[in-house]
Amino acid sequence: MDKDQTWQAVLGEIELNLSRANFTTWFKNTFISSFENEKVIVCVPSTFTKAWLEKKYQKDILERIKKLETEGCQKEIASALENVTGVKIKEIIFKVEARKEESAIFDKLSMIEQQKPNFDNVLHNRFGLNSRYTFDNFVVGKGNELAHAACQAVAANPGRAYNPLFIYGGVGLGKTHLIQAVGHEISKRTSKVLYVTCEKFTNDYIQAVRNGKAKDFKDLYRTVDLLLIDDIQFMGGKDGTQEEFFHTFNELHQSNKQIVLTSDRQPKYIPALEKRLLSRFEWGMIADVVSPDLETRVAIMETKCREKNYMIDQEILGFVANNVQSNIRELEGVLNRLIAYHEFNNTKPTLDTTKQTLNNILAASSRPISTKKIIDSVSRFYDVAVKDVVGKSRKKELVKPRQIIMYLMREDLGVSYPSIGDELGGRDHTTAIHAYNKISKDLKTSSLIKQEIELIKQILRDEQPDYSY
Ligand code: ADP
Ligand code: MG
Repeated sequence: MDKDQTWQAVLGEIELNLSRANFTTWFKNTFISSFENEKVIVCVPSTFTKAWLEKKYQKDILERIKKLETEGCQKEIASALENVTGVKIKEIIFKVEARKEESAIFDKLSMIEQQKPNFDNVLHNRFGLNSRYTFDNFVVGKGNELAHAACQAVAANPGRAYNPLFIYGGVGLGKTHLIQAVGHEISKRTSKVLYVTCEKFTNDYIQAVRNGKAKDFKDLYRTVDLLLIDDIQFMGGKDGTQEEFFHTFNELHQSNKQIVLTSDRQPKYIPALEKRLLSRFEWGMIADVVSPDLETRVAIMETKCREKNYMIDQEILGFVANNVQSNIRELEGVLNRLIAYHEFNNTKPTLDTTKQTLNNILAASSRPISTKKIIDSVSRFYDVAVKDVVGKSRKKELVKPRQIIMYLMREDLGVSYPSIGDELGGRDHTTAIHAYNKISKDLKTSSLIKQEIELIKQILRDEQPDYSY
């Protein structure tokens, strides 16, 4: 193994013990520059990352036991390295250094590097809202009518209707489309509209601090009329960014500037989110989006066909809508494939060719779910370490994830109760039976559990094994 491969393997191990947000924030763009005599130099992209990785390490032992995520990372990295290479590591040093080719891209991506940002550019070039994501192109149905109404209210009355507006729901259900539609509407009246993903906000902030341009960052973000942040769940665990966003939020809110946020889950389930942010996210209106019903799915497909200027029979649309139920992005993906296939072959879709296309797509996309994947996904969702979930501790925060893992293993994979017990740290099969029954019962009475399991299943279905490299 060369250094890069070793590091990839180490990251693979570390990833298991961190939430996705944390992992991406702190380990993206890191690499090993030297590995000799039990001493490793890990290069990190910014002083910010370096300080974080080191600072967490210096926290005193007691505090560290509390939560793996607040631990220093030398120990984690050392043990992962030892597992991967078999070499005992004595010392890990973090050094700020970007890979040459990567730093070029990184710099290009960062708006702070540009000359003083100009709002017109921001809207139309850098943060260009997708021109397709307007209210006109959005089909309103049962699953999204509340969120849609709230977005329209905000667009009509920014800063006054609901502030902030917080939209949450699973993957591919129209959250990005909706908040960008708000952006389009309001941008007709002011150019100080800013749409960013949470990841961009974070990266820009880190870059700004690194380059001594924190003031430019504040000048930009704190003076907009409308701030749209997509996928805010990724802010969980990023302390510096949360601090900055807290002040951005206050400044905007106090001057009645509109803030709209999206997330894959409710504020209270975002792991490692500061209390003061949590309470602010709940100040305004919280609206969810859920999977569309059949009627809406058909209507959406019709809209997409119109947009693409492509005619497809009702029967075929109905067939696709019946077979692709989970999310709209997938629905659109199938439609695109269908159109591409038939345009390429210069034919019209028939029910038979549609079935064939759909089968091919479904076969290719059904990545098998494994017990490991269930354990990883559930742990990540509840922000607990895998080793704790499969370990002996009976701490309260571990019990629920553990029971849900057992439930999913049984329900989705049909694993036998004794094997489930084995997978989870050698527990007795009666424990697995109890867990299965308990969650089955909770599912009937608690919409919360139902929603959480729905989200976990989406993670299981959608998650690419490799998302940040
Ligand atoms: P999310 O942000 O919730 O993951 P997106 O907003 O990216 O989902 O939506 C995924 C795709 O589905 C986009 O192409 C979007 O235009 C489309 N879409 C979602 N909901 C609707 C809707 N109600 N009407 C029309 N298109 C929709
Ligand atoms: Mg989105």
